[in-house]
Amino acid sequence: MNTIKHVFFDLDNTLWDFRKNAKFALKELYIKYDVENRYGFTFDEFHPFYHDSNEGLWALIRDKKITKEELRARRFKDAFDQLGIDNDALAKIFEEEYMETITNYNEVVDGAMELLDYLKPNYTLHIITNGFIEVSKRKIETSELKGYFDTVTYADEIKILKPDPRIFSLAMEKSEAKKEESIYIGDDWIADAVGAKAYGMSAIFFDRLDENFSMDNVPTIKHLDEVRNYL
Ligand SMILES: [Mg+2]
Repeated sequence: MNTIKHVFFDLDNTLWDFRKNAKFALKELYIKYDVENRYGFTFDEFHPFYHDSNEGLWALIRDKKITKEELRARRFKDAFDQLGIDNDALAKIFEEEYMETITNYNEVVDGAMELLDYLKPNYTLHIITNGFIEVSKRKIETSELKGYFDTVTYADEIKILKPDPRIFSLAMEKSEAKKEESIYIGDDWIADAVGAKAYGMSAIFFDRLDENFSMDNVPTIKHLDEVRNYL
């Protein structure tokens, strides 16, 4: 019997298509600051360097080796450095304008709205995000996601990130949900699937990048449509 009453979602890349929106925003800045003409690299040449820099730094944050401020200071600088673009001021401008620019783009993950419409009549929906609080709020309130969620728990509220159990515990308090009646759906194996499971919730791993991690009793899906097989 399905005893689940509350469905908790990760935000970035589970519902809000961070990778797609980030790429649009970066391309806008790349053109605005004429980087291709000034340094000879196309946007498509630049982008993998930024992607690797950003992903690597987020992994270090998760492992508590650096702070979010260090990530913000380094992600563009490291990517530019690797391409031999020696312009720290430009890296700083990219970081400053990136967070604003990304909010011009609001695409949700393929299948997100169909899934939320399917779940909404039967479950109470929530979000738990590790993203920056002010940015995450805007993503929810200015996109199609607005109006679907009873609670949103921002890791920034207590400066503790998923997979730390305290963030899941805070989400239970805010939502007045019991963990036995709750399921968590997210695209990060450690922060989302392993974190929620260790805390005692059910979990579904949304394996968008074909990482193929697996654990007993944690179903893996490749598209949000497949959540319907479990809820
Ligand atoms: Mg995510």
